[in-house]
Amino acid sequence: MLFDSRKITVIPGDGIGPEVVTAALKVVEATGVGIEAEVHQAGAASFARGIESGVPEETIESIERTKVLLKGPLETPIGHGNKSANVTLRTLFETFGNLRPVRELPGVTTPFTGRKLDIVIVRENVEDLYTGIEYMQTPGVAQALKVISRTGCEKIVELAFEFAVAAGRQRVHCATKANIMKLTEGMLQHTFEDFAPRYPQIEAKHILIDNCAHQLAMRPEQFDVIVTTNMNGDILSDLTSGLTGGLGFAPSANIGSDVAIFEAVHGSAPDIAGKNIANPTAIILSAAMMLRHIGEGAAADDIEQAVLVTLESGMRSGDMAGTQPASSTTEFADAIIANLGRDSRTAGSRDFRAVRIPESSREVEVVEVTNRRVTGVDVYVESRMQPDELAESLIAAASDSTLNLHMISNRGNTVYPAGDRAVTLVDQYRCRFMKKNRHADVTDPEILRLLTRIGEAHLWMHIEKLQHFDGEDAFSRGAR
Ligand code: NAP
Repeated sequence: MLFDSRKITVIPGDGIGPEVVTAALKVVEATGVGIEAEVHQAGAASFARGIESGVPEETIESIERTKVLLKGPLETPIGHGNKSANVTLRTLFETFGNLRPVRELPGVTTPFTGRKLDIVIVRENVEDLYTGIEYMQTPGVAQALKVISRTGCEKIVELAFEFAVAAGRQRVHCATKANIMKLTEGMLQHTFEDFAPRYPQIEAKHILIDNCAHQLAMRPEQFDVIVTTNMNGDILSDLTSGLTGGLGFAPSANIGSDVAIFEAVHGSAPDIAGKNIANPTAIILSAAMMLRHIGEGAAADDIEQAVLVTLESGMRSGDMAGTQPASSTTEFADAIIANLGRDSRTAGSRDFRAVRIPESSREVEVVEVTNRRVTGVDVYVESRMQPDELAESLIAAASDSTLNLHMISNRGNTVYPAGDRAVTLVDQYRCRFMKKNRHADVTDPEILRLLTRIGEAHLWMHIEKLQHFDGEDAFSRGAR
């Protein structure tokens, strides 16, 4: 990776951002690594200047130069049609992996205190339901696309294993919902199983995401690194933050092949902004992750140890003080600075090597197959008819077609043939047509002819070809 390890871009951010980011920069400076910070704007002030993405061009140029961003939280304006500046930054620099480490901290009492939790969630950060591709298929039925690619799975799985190796960890769980979403969530499971043998020193286990959530509540100490898809990771990583003390302590790194963004998990906390009472620990630990990323591992260790020593000394920020006297943001950061060079009583430094980050290519990523066929088509139809009546009408429409009506489903439930179960029907039907001659492929003109005939009697809004790649169904059979 090409970056100038002395230069970083800093966005102070909104709300409590400037207070906690200033504290983190002071701590970094005190380690003596001599970082040169290019401070730039993004978020609320940029939206106010009329910058629709929330991130000005000069900020983007600085990040492109330095490749490393330490950012404070950015507010997402509500009701102005503005995009989220956070999402702009993550997508602009394709930070495909979100690392969220949590560990038990001295004096931060939780129901899990004493169980020595030390868990890292590795969340895929750019695909899945977060591509934001949604449609109202009928006025009453919405649909979102869950997009999972083999290349996206490979990058996140590789990052998880490489991180585990670099951090001297023993076990990686892959958490998916592959039992229900066999093609999308299943792709992460299969990629994980394909990559695991390359890392024989790491114990690799697949776990269903619902069981993972249950196990995290019951026996969280069994987990080390968990790799998962975007939405699952979003939820699980907030859960794990909660297990160890909450938002004030949760750091994160958004890793791309070219650029990495380090930030606290928490937002701008407007209710406590400007009062010098916010807990700066999360952003200080994020800054330590940043230092490790740019090759300043010793300074990163120093900061992590100093945070532990500060907490061991009984110092408490406002969010964890309870009835004890609370330290201000600046007092807390100053105590961490005073403790640099001291070793924690409760946890030693990790032997942490640089993480090898998967490369991204500018080429279009393709999975090659030798044989592909199209044997049918799903046509999504908006209709108020009952299934049998709709089927009769579609059979008539397809009478001169080379395709037969094979099945109709409604919200995933098969309602034709044998649609005798009591399901709530909505006006969006998936109507599956298969080629009458099973050995021949369906051509585009045949599909277009069928659509024309269906369109004469019904509203259709979407189609999917039913493909087979190297003999495997490339669609769900969908009979629930
Ligand atoms: P939040 O800013 O994380 O704040 C939620 C509450 O958590 C705060 O009111 C405060 O609780 C507590 N808190 C958070 N960080 C703290 C800290 N460092 N020290 C002490 N207490 C802390 O979540 P939100 O209120 O949902 O979001 C506010 C804004 O931030 C929104 O515009 C949101 O879009 C944005 N946001 C940005 C990011 C990001 O930039 N990555 C992430 C999340 C949210 P008390 O009431 O107990 O003081």
